[in-house]
Amino acid sequence: MESTQIAANNPALKSWIEIPTGSDFPIQNLPFGIIESGSLSKRAAVRIGDFVLDLKTLYVLGYLENLAFGPEDFDNPFLNSLMKKGKKATRDLRNRISKLLSTENSDLKNNEHHVAQVLIPIDKVQMCMPVQIGDYTDFYSSREHATNVGTMFRDPANALLPNWLWIPVGYHGRASSVIISGEPIHRPKGQIKPNPEENPIFAPCRNLDFELETAFITFDGKPLGDSISTEEAEDYIFGMCLFNDWSARDIQTWEYVPLGPFLAKNFASSLSPWIVTLDALQPFKVDGPDQDPAVLSYLEFQGQKSYDINLEVIIQTQSGEENIVSRSNFKHMYWNMAQQLAHHTVNGCNVRCGDLMGSGTISGPTEDSYGSMLELAWKGTKPLMMKDGSERRFILDNDTVIMKGFSEKNGIRIGFGEVSTKVLPAK
Ligand code: CA
Repeated sequence: MESTQIAANNPALKSWIEIPTGSDFPIQNLPFGIIESGSLSKRAAVRIGDFVLDLKTLYVLGYLENLAFGPEDFDNPFLNSLMKKGKKATRDLRNRISKLLSTENSDLKNNEHHVAQVLIPIDKVQMCMPVQIGDYTDFYSSREHATNVGTMFRDPANALLPNWLWIPVGYHGRASSVIISGEPIHRPKGQIKPNPEENPIFAPCRNLDFELETAFITFDGKPLGDSISTEEAEDYIFGMCLFNDWSARDIQTWEYVPLGPFLAKNFASSLSPWIVTLDALQPFKVDGPDQDPAVLSYLEFQGQKSYDINLEVIIQTQSGEENIVSRSNFKHMYWNMAQQLAHHTVNGCNVRCGDLMGSGTISGPTEDSYGSMLELAWKGTKPLMMKDGSERRFILDNDTVIMKGFSEKNGIRIGFGEVSTKVLPAK
């Protein structure tokens, strides 16, 4: 299915809706989300420029006929029902929406009464959690990140553990605390051990960190016992979001031996509201890093499986000033999503519609492209200076962490919008 020409990706397409210059959401994007607005119940929508297209109303008005969808797929507080229809159906839906919004087609455009019902300005809607997440898995797939962490906490000469170049390392996270952009979090509390010579104490986390990640969201996978190959993987992925996988480094340091992440990770992870389809990202495929040693056969793949996605992290201090603290790119990831999904299912583990897979912290090769405060401030030894004169080793109360991402080529920009989360003092 990968080689299919996708009509909605045509760079020549223009919309009759005015798209602001530099918008993340031209007609070639059309990401899916869930909106709520005044008296309108939660429902499926697509983003175009500074508007959202209400898919429930569009369906009721008859514009989405002869597709695989019924009213329950759009009049629904989550996208799961829509995603249950799979890759081809959602591709056909995006192509239809593209057609309706294109200057080439006047079916919707010429009906002002309908346009007024289906197009809502973005500032009039509340964005909601787009999917009901079943299971959340987080990988650890940036070689630079794993090397940095290994250098700081173990041995610079043997920074990568022996399995890292063979296995897309991951762990099972917790879906209940995945939150939508805009929802604040409270600083977590837990056991920390500030003085190695003394017993642990119970206190608010002192080393609160972000992790710059993306996440992919799956269609229904195969039954328990079956595996998804790297070749099949993209047919099982609906799309991607930005993902801030919050981490309490001091809680983590004390708790993580021997079973790995627990309370240091499960207090919150923030998701951006628009799911950019893998289809929309297809023009931005690139080669990933060389993999040496050669991977085992089930992790081999053909063609380009990485994506060129520019990423940025901003710390907004209490005064409102924004400080860009990192610029990275998804293309640096050593293990690609097809390999992650193939590895996740190679033992027969079943993936379900609405599962969320975090990429792992996306650190680039340079000191200003690291994906966490742990690395940017190098374990607190190189604090970052903010515009207001304050320093950051980790994230302080009342800081807002904002992540942005976009792909851009030949004048077409496919963006993710942002994921933004304010940190409030411990409860
Ligand atoms: Ca993570």
